[in-house]
Amino acid sequence: MEIKVTLSQNLKQKPQDESKLGFGKIFTDHMFLMDYYEGEGWMNPRVEPYAPLSMPPAATVLHYGQAIFEGMKCYRREDGGLQLFRPEQNMARMTRSAQRMGMPALNEEAALEGLKKLLEIEKDWVPHSEGTSLYIRPFMIAMDEMLGVHAAHHYLFMIILSPVGAYYAEGLKPVSIYVEDSYVRAVRGGVGFTKCAGNYGASILAGEVAAKRGYSQVLWLDGVEQKYVEEVGAMNIMFAYGNKIVTPMLNGSILPGITRDSIITVARQLGYEVSEERVAIEDIFADIKSGKLTEAFGTGTAAVISPVGHLCWKDEVVTLNNNEIGPVAQQLYDTLTGIQWGKLEDKNNWITKL
Ligand SMILES: *Cc1c(COP(=O)(O)O)cnc(C)c1O
Repeated sequence: MEIKVTLSQNLKQKPQDESKLGFGKIFTDHMFLMDYYEGEGWMNPRVEPYAPLSMPPAATVLHYGQAIFEGMKCYRREDGGLQLFRPEQNMARMTRSAQRMGMPALNEEAALEGLKKLLEIEKDWVPHSEGTSLYIRPFMIAMDEMLGVHAAHHYLFMIILSPVGAYYAEGLKPVSIYVEDSYVRAVRGGVGFTKCAGNYGASILAGEVAAKRGYSQVLWLDGVEQKYVEEVGAMNIMFAYGNKIVTPMLNGSILPGITRDSIITVARQLGYEVSEERVAIEDIFADIKSGKLTEAFGTGTAAVISPVGHLCWKDEVVTLNNNEIGPVAQQLYDTLTGIQWGKLEDKNNWITKL
């Protein structure tokens, strides 16, 4: 595959203070693009200077939300080398999202090749400090100029990059979570398993309401009975009962996290028993109160592990592990981040070195 490269003539200054990076606010000098035309397939892979897009006001994506994305990271090892964590899983998931949204399957190989080319050009943008990384945002949008509600003929796949700070500058800090019992995130037969843009737009109001009450994320219940635990914010959720870890089973409305899958594997390798099952919120509260349930934590690419300190459901607030990081969350965090930043052996063949 021939990737056409147009380099920027106007390079930006890289951030000097890596402790102030935050998340998703700074973008690198270049981006990757590739077009899809019905009947012709994916074509015209190219790297161009990062710049605003030009599109017709009638572009399908702006009206009917045919937009999907992925989130992954490029990590810098202590020896200065760069690596990716299970990138083929992100591309495969993007194809699954695309199919549900009536969009074309991604050319996953071309997308990975494009990503590697872009990272080769932008390698100096990968930050150096402990816990920092270069966040990778692949996305696909429908570009047809038409107002009919049907699948488009022209799609655009792109990758943009953003250096991000350490999620935990001062060690893993538990968060307070509000159990959302009126709004729902996803329903049976819907698009909950996809990273389609609308899922996140639809979640913003609940997040704002929870934030006003002093909670940093919402815990979503199932969209049918609002009895069963699904996810926390844009993370999957796990519960520890001593040496046993329980997590909601994938049911079509839960996003199949790559971190979730990796934590399940690593936990089993460390000797934990892991069970994927239907988890009732009522049982979770009873088990926290009886002391059987010892820890809860979210899993996702951004934070890796996010321990839950307080949980509020229908005005009742319970505290987990004295609102401190517990041993299970800490061990799983240390193990997975150790693999991702190249400090621990990669027994599962998850790492792609660049
Ligand atoms: C992206 C995402 C996750 C986590 O997926 P990872 O692959 O682990 O980053 C979990 N839930 C939702 C709703 C998400 O969008």
